[in-house]
Amino acid sequence: MAQRQFQTEVSKLLHLIIHSLYSNREIFLRELVSNASDALDKLKYLTVADESYKAIVFDPRVDLSFNKDAKTLTVSDNGVGMNEQDLIESLGTIARSGTRAFLEKLTADAKKDSNLIGQFGVGFYSAFMVAEKIEVISRKAGEDAAWKWTSDGKEGYDIESATRDTQGTTVILHLTEEGIEYANRWSIEDIIKRYSNHVAFPIYLTYDEKEYDDKGKEKGGKTKTDRINSGAALWRRAKSELKDEDYAEFYKQLGHDSEEPLFYTHTKAEGTLEYTTLFYIPKKAPFDLYHVDYKPGVKLYVKRVFITDDDKELMPTWLRFVRGVIDSEDLPLNVSREILQQNKILVNIKNASVKKLLSEFKNLAENNKEKWDVFIQEYNKPLKEGLYQDWGSRDALLELVRFKSTSVEGWTSFADYVSRMKSEQKHIYYITGGDEKTLRSSPLLEAYTAKGIEVLIMDDEIDDIVIPSIGRYSKKTDDTTSEWDLKAVNRSGADEELGEKENKEAEKEIKPVIEKLKKALGDKVKDVKLSRRLHDSPSCIVADENDPSMQMAQMLKAMGQTEIPDIKPILEINGEHPIVAALKTSDDEAHIEDVAIVLLDQALLVEGVKIKESAEFVKRLNRLLSKQAAQG
Ligand code: ADP
Repeated sequence: MAQRQFQTEVSKLLHLIIHSLYSNREIFLRELVSNASDALDKLKYLTVADESYKAIVFDPRVDLSFNKDAKTLTVSDNGVGMNEQDLIESLGTIARSGTRAFLEKLTADAKKDSNLIGQFGVGFYSAFMVAEKIEVISRKAGEDAAWKWTSDGKEGYDIESATRDTQGTTVILHLTEEGIEYANRWSIEDIIKRYSNHVAFPIYLTYDEKEYDDKGKEKGGKTKTDRINSGAALWRRAKSELKDEDYAEFYKQLGHDSEEPLFYTHTKAEGTLEYTTLFYIPKKAPFDLYHVDYKPGVKLYVKRVFITDDDKELMPTWLRFVRGVIDSEDLPLNVSREILQQNKILVNIKNASVKKLLSEFKNLAENNKEKWDVFIQEYNKPLKEGLYQDWGSRDALLELVRFKSTSVEGWTSFADYVSRMKSEQKHIYYITGGDEKTLRSSPLLEAYTAKGIEVLIMDDEIDDIVIPSIGRYSKKTDDTTSEWDLKAVNRSGADEELGEKENKEAEKEIKPVIEKLKKALGDKVKDVKLSRRLHDSPSCIVADENDPSMQMAQMLKAMGQTEIPDIKPILEINGEHPIVAALKTSDDEAHIEDVAIVLLDQALLVEGVKIKESAEFVKRLNRLLSKQAAQG
């Protein structure tokens, strides 16, 4: 029989797991039991949802046994099982996109990698930390043939036909010298209690109990089988019975996380709808949070029967970092996964769950600064997505999202901004379109800073899309509602509060310069205006109130959108700046053109917008500098 080779990634993963998780190797048992439990969940679903499986007697169990002399440890389930193809796909390749993503992130620095691995479910392969050879004997539910997969976890594996009485999977570990410590009743019980106590199916351990005569001499023994997990679906138990440790243990298994959750919320609803939800917020955002093919984190159960863990509609997308369980009493057991989305009951549960989570987030913001800081660091971005996608949650989310600001260190909220506002200030100001450093040094902020007006620094890419779509922030206090428009400082029209309203004198004086610049720049700009927002810089660009910003247009183009029309900026100039003032007396058209282009291009550069003809810009700049040098 020819050996089949592991996909290259599998070998890499195996090597890594064995070397970096070794100090925590007992988790292999949690992973195997978790696979057994998933297999039972899947079969349970089939027996209720699919006529052709009705004949199967569903008597779920996971059986553990060991043999010290033979150095084996066996984990067996009577779940859904695998056929030859399944074995190849599941145990010979990296089928899960998550694992692949994980492998891509590896740094080859053993320490960093072992931290990373904690965030991913390592699964079946972790058993090679304690086994030098693994046999998997499996028979798929509804099929007669059974198959045996064997591997030493090095290069490849063998598959041959085998026999098994019922459907399900038996995993036999041939333990290494160090692994033998797990062929032991007490360590198995201890590990199961710690990691898998709340697996919803019974876990049994079979062991030999020796018997002794009165003189303490061994007189044979008996084989016994005990149930070793408490086994009620944790979320069905009363909150008062459960400790934080219980919740954390369940989370680690459910979320494949080695860390405790940041927090959890457990709700039992009894009324028109009866359901239980248990939601966890991971301390670290899931690695696939920004992948299109992210794996949803919430499992749906109906009356404790597992229905699906792969339905992205169970939660709004912006809440895709939530892990947990929804268990409904009202949905029909044979609810088809395809039509779940349209199910009214589920929609109601979903809405109530979103409300519940929002109120938990609010509670965190108000009462637990330490956790809230972690939360915002990890999840501010998805909350902003929510502002854009989820109208129903918008008001609540507006109180939760946080921003950086020119006035305070760290994060701030709209509410805090408003409370700091001067009494005469009418709008909330913000700046978007670049990283924090670029934004903070933007000339557009000069006049706001000089007047002591706070500006929110919005350096997330999505701010440019989300914030303009919100338009205004309102706050209810007792019976009055106050409203403030959100104004981007890089837009025309956001400068009305900067004073010097219509300084007719200055306007008149600068008019000839503006005319000269307009002529020189032609259709490169939409307009040229005297600025009210500049203090130190000679010029800046703003977008017309109804145009997308230049940065946004640049981003959309980079994303491959071709129908974006060329957006032209408005050039604003600082009439008091010597470069600008000098133009009043110049009539040299070539010189004016050089200055005009430099004023425009430098303003674009400062805002992080690529200029089209950089060589041309440099040439003009050098010409101006040479002239200066000749005069000086
Ligand atoms: P994960 O369980 O996180 O998907 P594993 O590496 O542990 O990753 O397992 C890979 C796949 O092998 C599983 O998704 C499942 O399809 C299959 N598998 C593993 N163990 C069993 C089992 N006891 N019964 C049925 N299928 C199993």
